[in-house]
Amino acid sequence: MSTLPVLKPGDTIGILGGGQLGRMLALAAAELGLNCHIYAPEEDSCAFQVVRDKTCAEYDDEPALERFAAAVDIIIYEFENIPAATAGFLQFHKPVLPNPNTLAIVQDRLPEKEFVTGLGIGTAPFAKVDSLDALKAAIARLDAPAVLKTRRLGYDGKGQARINAPEDADAAWKAIREKPAILEKFIPFEREISVVAARGRSGEVAAYEAIENEHRQHILHRSTVPAQIPQALADEAVAVATRIAEALGYIGTLAVEMFVVQADGKRRLLVNEIAPRVHNSGHWTIDGATASQFEQHIRAVAGWPLARPRRLGRVEMINLIGREVNDWAKYLAEPGTSVHIYGKGDVRPGRKMGHVTRVLPEAGF
Ligand code: AMP
Repeated sequence: MSTLPVLKPGDTIGILGGGQLGRMLALAAAELGLNCHIYAPEEDSCAFQVVRDKTCAEYDDEPALERFAAAVDIIIYEFENIPAATAGFLQFHKPVLPNPNTLAIVQDRLPEKEFVTGLGIGTAPFAKVDSLDALKAAIARLDAPAVLKTRRLGYDGKGQARINAPEDADAAWKAIREKPAILEKFIPFEREISVVAARGRSGEVAAYEAIENEHRQHILHRSTVPAQIPQALADEAVAVATRIAEALGYIGTLAVEMFVVQADGKRRLLVNEIAPRVHNSGHWTIDGATASQFEQHIRAVAGWPLARPRRLGRVEMINLIGREVNDWAKYLAEPGTSVHIYGKGDVRPGRKMGHVTRVLPEAGF
């Protein structure tokens, strides 16, 4: 399907995935007069609550996919692990954005790392691991400490095992259930940052400044902007994300997660991961910038000009994970704090239930 229509208000965007990212994309689309149709297999998908049109079906249900495609003008996705076959099937019926080739690269940590290093951009040293013997050889080459990561379907630290010494190989290989993997050298980073950038159909890129991210138990806890790094490094981070978006021929919002490492008094960036979608570390843009990452994604896929977002102050975003959502009333009572609750029924440990954003005057820091 090659013709890519320029959308107009009243048109419908199909979104694969029914989580909070789909929900916030649909809310942003609604503000621009666009409808969204959410397709997700889980009946209690929180994105269903904010749209008129929904399909609750499995990703391999071809008749349901066909009906969905017929009902929308373009198709986007809110998470990168939708089966490649689903994106491939839908592409015959309606344009799928961002380009499914991007999915093929970023769904698998090995081509993702090869793509990034192929651009001359640094990553943690890595090795392909297909067997226990290959793991042992990789540990001998890269040296412990290291992190074993499944190539596919890992997120928030899932599908990962830490290797502190060569003797940990057997346990780590079992822990990731003997799946195709990569071994990465453990990076003693100074801090973690990300850059959220949007690329429009005409190739223009609008990036937010570098964001500083703090994880707890592998889950994003807090993002602050601007990141506390030298300006030249922050500019380099934006250049890295721009380069990646351009090399992918990407249309939409993407995020690039990076480690800041210090060696011999010099700071360097290593790319950890590319997210071909709006990203948790960009949620601050709803309240802390003149245009959000969600609006930018919608503008880009619709074929509309991107906004040139400005930051409204120094911003802090805190995720409400699991039972932390029960503090909603406390945050509501804080002047200047915006509260976002995703409408997920079950409060489960590690589940992202909402977030809060504080926008503080620049001078106050
Ligand atoms: P990932 O699923 O690859 O994004 O990893 C989740 C988190 O684990 C990252 O945000 C880091 O905090 C940590 N991590 C991942 N890879 C490494 C590494 N090679 N060295 C040190 N920490 C890592």
